[in-house]
Amino acid sequence: MRQVAIYGKGGIGKSTTTQNLTAGLGEMGKKIMIVGCDPKADSTRLLLGGLAQKTVLDTLREEGEDIELDLIMREGFSGINCVESGGPEPGVGCAGRGIITSIGMLESLGAYERDLDYVFYDVLGDVVCGGFAMPIREGKAQEIYIVASGEMMALYAANNIAKGVQKYANTGGCRIGGIICNSRKVDGERGLLDAFAKELGSQLIHFVPRDNMVQRAEIHKKTVIEFDPTANQAEEYRQLAKAIDGNDMFVVPKPMSTERLEEILMEHGIMDI
Ligand code: ADP
Ligand code: MG
Repeated sequence: MRQVAIYGKGGIGKSTTTQNLTAGLGEMGKKIMIVGCDPKADSTRLLLGGLAQKTVLDTLREEGEDIELDLIMREGFSGINCVESGGPEPGVGCAGRGIITSIGMLESLGAYERDLDYVFYDVLGDVVCGGFAMPIREGKAQEIYIVASGEMMALYAANNIAKGVQKYANTGGCRIGGIICNSRKVDGERGLLDAFAKELGSQLIHFVPRDNMVQRAEIHKKTVIEFDPTANQAEEYRQLAKAIDGNDMFVVPKPMSTERLEEILMEHGIMDI
């Protein structure tokens, strides 16, 4: 069983990419569980057809600790098992707490002992701290992909995440498997992301184009792969799924200084506006 965490700046496309790529892995016959680690609890909406999945934290609040697995885990497209950690009420308590509670609950209910090829954690956060580090801190996820684009803030966040990964690499054993570019159609984006990934000692695992097909599928509460399996974008997500499935490049990242990051941005022309 491979345990994979997807990190990246808020709004960069983690949940969209995770659900579409797992739909691609599902098509390949893989058995998958997704654990949404964002208090927004929208990590599995496209796989569940919009069904508002009751979060683990809400379930525990309402039902107490003595629950069955199927109360917090629902099957979505392609048999993918969907879990949402949830979070505290806005402004109250630590948002990372839900992740710790959920993983603990899933473990005690035997969710990891089933026949699974992959567990994916879709984790909110520009920085890897507190509860948000949980999936990589204690060796839950060995494999991390960072979603980024050619926008400066996305790369700043990706570099910060790499710092977090580096910090937990010894204790948790986690490694970066690659950078996923979720394109924002920035000039020179592919070259920039490629250079950024190499500077980290990693690789650009796939360049996902920006495509309105994503919005069209989203409004129908579906992944692109389910909504229009013949679309070009569906093929892009299948390629990403294959690249991850066949990946054998896992590294402790070498985060860069802000100066070096800015240099790379300059070299690739996007600051040249
Ligand atoms: P995150 O989980 O990182 O906060 P989301 O996956 O929710 O981000 O993505 C934010 C929005 O960006 C989505 O609602 C989706 O419409 C849009 N989006 C993501 N990826 C793409 C893409 N490749 N092409 C077009 N729109 C995209
Ligand atoms: Mg999300």
